[in-house]
Amino acid sequence: VRRIGVFTSGGDAPGMNAAIRSVVRTALHMGIECIGIRRGYHGLINGDFVPLTFESVSGLSRKGGTMLYSARSEDFKSQLGRERAVATCKLLGLDALVGIGGDGTFRGLLTLAQQGLSVIGIPGTIDNDIACSTYTIGYDTACNTALESIDKLRDTMQSHERCSVVEVMGRHAGHVALNVGVACGATAVLVPEQKVDYENDLMEPIRRSRLAGRTHFMIIVAEGVEGGAYEVAKQINEATSLDTRVTILGHVQRGGAPTVRDRIAATYMGYEAVRLLAEGKTCRVVAMDGESYVDYDIEEALKMHKGLDQQTYTVMRALTGVQ
Ligand code: ADP
Repeated sequence: VRRIGVFTSGGDAPGMNAAIRSVVRTALHMGIECIGIRRGYHGLINGDFVPLTFESVSGLSRKGGTMLYSARSEDFKSQLGRERAVATCKLLGLDALVGIGGDGTFRGLLTLAQQGLSVIGIPGTIDNDIACSTYTIGYDTACNTALESIDKLRDTMQSHERCSVVEVMGRHAGHVALNVGVACGATAVLVPEQKVDYENDLMEPIRRSRLAGRTHFMIIVAEGVEGGAYEVAKQINEATSLDTRVTILGHVQRGGAPTVRDRIAATYMGYEAVRLLAEGKTCRVVAMDGESYVDYDIEEALKMHKGLDQQTYTVMRALTGVQ
């Protein structure tokens, strides 16, 4: 491997920059040149690139977002789009590609591998919803950002004796909601993985909390829960007449300087991606299995399934008093 391309794709996540920096510095250390492809597959199709040097990735570890920009590309899903992407790689003399993103990004890499390119995926998403990896870059920062906002909300909810319904990110997965819910000591946590039983999962925890003397309540709802936070607030209001307020945290959860955990995960994963390529491996996803760094075949990785962490789920149910 003489020259590799690196890009970020799909939803951005804090720590993507640290991963880019790590890929570039590791590559240079191994005598490999590195080219940044901007705007994900869109840039690959259009030849939108920037040469990356030791200096150009300096100071990137602490920066949120992605210096290579991220985009979604419908064109890439067509045969013509893919042909143009391969042509760009040939033109730039890229022997291999490292893509940082989610499952969609990995599916794209798989199609390029089928055209003979060497490819490696790095899991980057705040949702932690990549099946093959117990951890994804950005998750810890997103949870901490959400937690900080929720702690602030709690102060004002307490003063006014209100019921707060906070919607956190997670269209398909409740990892952020569950983790943040446990961390903030929520009254109740609702996730898309479980059909919501309003009486058991919501009203009863609120009642127990009231009976224990509380006059303010914190309900954490994942984005993907049916009806979202507004529906949950409506149900609470109808059943209890509590003064209920909805806060949707939204994209703030995607920003900010990455935490230690995300910087380290991103840096190790970047290193692993280049190491695999240097060893002649291809079509792999770098992943974490607990505290260990591992790798899987992309096709195999895309077939894997991951549910909520059962231990955390059990703890949440115990602490919110859900039967
Ligand atoms: P994520 O990588 O975060 O899951 P997306 O699902 O939006 O984000 O995927 C990012 C990009 O990957 C898409 O815009 C598209 O260009 C490419 N992609 C997604 N799915 C496929 C697929 N099945 N085949 C080829 N390319 C795909």
